[in-house]
Amino acid sequence: MTDELTFVSSLARRLGPAPAGETWAGDDAAVVRPPAGELLLAIDPMVQGVHFLETTADVGWAAVARNVSDIAAMGGRPLHALVSIVLPPGADVALLLDGLVEAHEGLCPIVGGDTSSGATLVITVAVTGTVDGTPVLRSGAHPGDLLFVTGPLGGALTRPPPRLAAARAARRAGATAMIDVSDGLSLDLRRLADASGVGVALDAVPMADGASWDDALGRGEDYELIFAAPDRDAVLEAFASLEPPIEIGVCTADPGECRLGDGPLPEGGWEHRW
Ligand SMILES: [Mg+2]
Repeated sequence: MTDELTFVSSLARRLGPAPAGETWAGDDAAVVRPPAGELLLAIDPMVQGVHFLETTADVGWAAVARNVSDIAAMGGRPLHALVSIVLPPGADVALLLDGLVEAHEGLCPIVGGDTSSGATLVITVAVTGTVDGTPVLRSGAHPGDLLFVTGPLGGALTRPPPRLAAARAARRAGATAMIDVSDGLSLDLRRLADASGVGVALDAVPMADGASWDDALGRGEDYELIFAAPDRDAVLEAFASLEPPIEIGVCTADPGECRLGDGPLPEGGWEHRW
């Protein structure tokens, strides 16, 4: 399946009917009801040859999942997704469409999309969300706040789930800053620390089964969350019905400090380049 119109009509047909009062794919714009609280917006492009090689169903799934993970990282939940696809001549995106439909059913409703022809296959997904309370930014951590991750890092799951329930628990526990691990612990933790103007001192890096040291520090796409919170007991209470997060260290007052044990936290992680 290569034709642009075929792609759009196939996607629209497979998304199913919109809820009463809403209009999804098929009109000039989707019509949905806005949330009562804050509106969260996230967007992320995936480029063939940069982010993926083959147009598998997992790519379609991941295009939505990585945005849902960004919504989770604010302590929120996803509402609606829009998909834009650039198709090179001869592209076979039947599997990619399957993955999008699976994400529509399992992660976040896709309410519309559009397509164009171009030299390189690019799939861009935008997701809206909302948060029941105050969004958790990257920038709110204070010296003395404890640092947690929601699970061991560097795992090679094909479709890791965005940590929506854990994110909400972290927000309820009073998380002061949060980020999802999309480019590796080493890089994403620095982003949180830089945004907050704090340093970090880690005791340990929890590693997933089979993960190498480089995987644990530098691999993203497992959607685990890093968050800072001042009260350990409040965190454990908020996570009582979930897998408890792993305490990895503490925020410090020196913004130049980025330490693992007695040494520096090794650099690593996926750096986006232009
Ligand atoms: Mg993110």
